[in-house]
This record gives sequence, structure tokens and C-alpha cells, in this order.
Amino acid sequence: MKPEDREKLEALFDAGAAKVASTEEHWIHNGDEGLSYCRECCEKEVAKLLKADPSGEYCVDGGWGIEGDTTPYCETCGKLLDNTLTEYGCEAEVDHFLRNGFDPASPGQCRSMSEVIMARGWEPMEGRTYRDDFEKKSDLDYFAALDKLCAGILKLMEAGDEKTI
Ligand SMILES: [Zn+2]
Repeated sequence: MKPEDREKLEALFDAGAAKVASTEEHWIHNGDEGLSYCRECCEKEVAKLLKADPSGEYCVDGGWGIEGDTTPYCETCGKLLDNTLTEYGCEAEVDHFLRNGFDPASPGQCRSMSEVIMARGWEPMEGRTYRDDFEKKSDLDYFAALDKLCAGILKLMEAGDEKTI
């Protein structure tokens, strides 16, 4: 993929991401740390837990970007939360769009791709040492899939341009 094509795609993804409101991810320290909340809902949950168990050492944790296999949403209010996608998370997103299609007009989908690019970039990390052949193959397969998806998105963008002109 040409650098100017990457720039075009990044501009599309980032513009979509800018339209989608998200907030920092929090969780309950000493609570069920697998559950994610926005700050407000997390504070409420902590207060609830402390009321039921005053000696419990619950507190609001998080507020910084941690890695996750999927994009988190607040357990209580459903607000979109920030994280960094893991390698697996990126693979799952690219795979999803290859299977189900991608809509360049959807800010949510553009945000997902912006997260994917932010997490793993456009090509394999230079000089990366792989644990084994399997890891190497899945890394290369991932970037081949990303290229395929992005070539398809570029085509859609170009078709869209013609319609608006
Ligand atoms: Zn919430």
C-alpha cells in the first residue's frame, strides 16, 4: 500500500474516531476487575459495595489505557471506553470487517479501524523476533489481511467520491 493511501485511510479513520465520544476505562479495585465502567458509574458501584461491606477495601481503579481484546463499554451506562487493542483484538476487528464489510460512512467503524492502526501500525515491526513459526505466520497473515481490507476500503472511498462529485 502506498504511503499516500495510508494517509487517506488514516484521515478517514481519525475523522470517524473524532465523532465518537469515549471516556477513560475504570474498574473496581478488589471488586470484579473484569468489569469495566466509566468513572461516574465506577464511583457509584464502589459506594454501593462499601455500603454493603464497610470493611471492604474497594476503590476506583484505572483511568489509564490498558490493553484489551475487545473495545470496552461501561457495564452500567454502556458508554464507550478507551483502551489499546491487543494483537488478538486487532486480528478480530480486521477479520470481522473482512467477513461483514466495512462502511466508510460509519464513525463507529472508522473508530475501530483507527484503534487497530494505533495498536499495530501498518506493517510488521522491524526486526521483531518471533517465538516460533506460528507466531511469525500469524503476524504476516494479519498484515496481509489488513492490506486486503484497506485496499477494499480505498475502493469504497473512491466510489463514494464519484457519487458526491
Ligand atoms: Zn457508565
